[in-house]
Amino acid sequence: MEPRVYLDHNATTPLKSCVMEAMLALPPLPYNPSSIHSYGREARRIVEEARRQIKRALKLEGHDGYECVFTASGTEANNLALKGLNTQTLLVSAIEHASVLKIEHGNRKVIPVTSEGIVDLAALETLLAEAEGKILVSVMLANNETGILQPIREIAELAQRYDALVHCDAVQAFGKIDVAPVDLNVDLLTISAHKCGGPLGAGALIYKKKYPLSAIITGGGQERSLRSGTENVPAIVGFGAAAANLAYDAAGISALRDGLETSLEGARMIGKRMPRLPNTSYLVMPGVASETQLIDFDLKGVAVSAGSACSSGKVTVSHVLLAMGVPEKEAACAVRVSLGEGTSENDITRFIAVWKELYARSNKVAA
Ligand code: PLP
Repeated sequence: MEPRVYLDHNATTPLKSCVMEAMLALPPLPYNPSSIHSYGREARRIVEEARRQIKRALKLEGHDGYECVFTASGTEANNLALKGLNTQTLLVSAIEHASVLKIEHGNRKVIPVTSEGIVDLAALETLLAEAEGKILVSVMLANNETGILQPIREIAELAQRYDALVHCDAVQAFGKIDVAPVDLNVDLLTISAHKCGGPLGAGALIYKKKYPLSAIITGGGQERSLRSGTENVPAIVGFGAAAANLAYDAAGISALRDGLETSLEGARMIGKRMPRLPNTSYLVMPGVASETQLIDFDLKGVAVSAGSACSSGKVTVSHVLLAMGVPEKEAACAVRVSLGEGTSENDITRFIAVWKELYARSNKVAA
């Protein structure tokens, strides 16, 4: 039997071998970075080295105004950013990940996106002009479903005119394209280890020290009192190693993705003409429900996903596609294909064969 084909790298990436080696090299010692004894001090040194690796990857060396706090996930870092600043108005785009969109706030407004999948800057300006008190704007760098890149620099410039702070969820972008909070001109930025070849269980929030951020998890006061709980040292080591080894063959990966898209006659491709991540393709197979496609692909050994799927294992219609104005009937037939390191020509050939076979079969049934 042929090995399974993994085309779901936006859901999680396989652990890079250099990351695994770095984690396995960690001696099995009682490493609590808060302990005063020598084990604790060694653990502290290891955690701080990982923090340096992450800052280096984000081009933050020499930018002392920024700090990095480790969390257990991108979700937690997003929660910390949005709940930890005492802002009176929160503006979030309609296509954010659930870890941003579902955060409750007394005065939260949703910024619409255009049919091309990017934040509507005119609508953002109106919302900023109407907003009260201290404002936080949260917009992602790359959408997890479409891969479409958001104009973060323009958003930040606009926000600054209204004295608003900007948080950017860069979870999908980090490791696939250059990410530098200083160049993006954002005040807070989220990343997650398992989306860039690192382990599950570690995320980070980059923040400007001059803004008063409060913890959402309280207790022993770890991570400069911003995130209590004993640090997950092995996961943090893996995160640091992943950040130090981000090399990504964007040109090779996008060539494979583009080849896949060229081969599929009859598919609607979302965001094809927009600036987007090199690895992501969002495909609508007209008349065939996402769930049916996922099951068929899985039975034939190909792992893909239905966009915003499905922490509960249930496929729901994508809020991103609906926000872009894609009719519900079409949105219900979308499948996200996300390539990564290790994706081969043969993987793409197998995907195309399954797609074409299912498309032909369903057209015959419909005829
Ligand atoms: N933000 C985006 C854009 C994501 O795609 C994800 C995960 O899919 C998250 C946040 C959440 O990250 P984590 O899985 O580390 O909680």
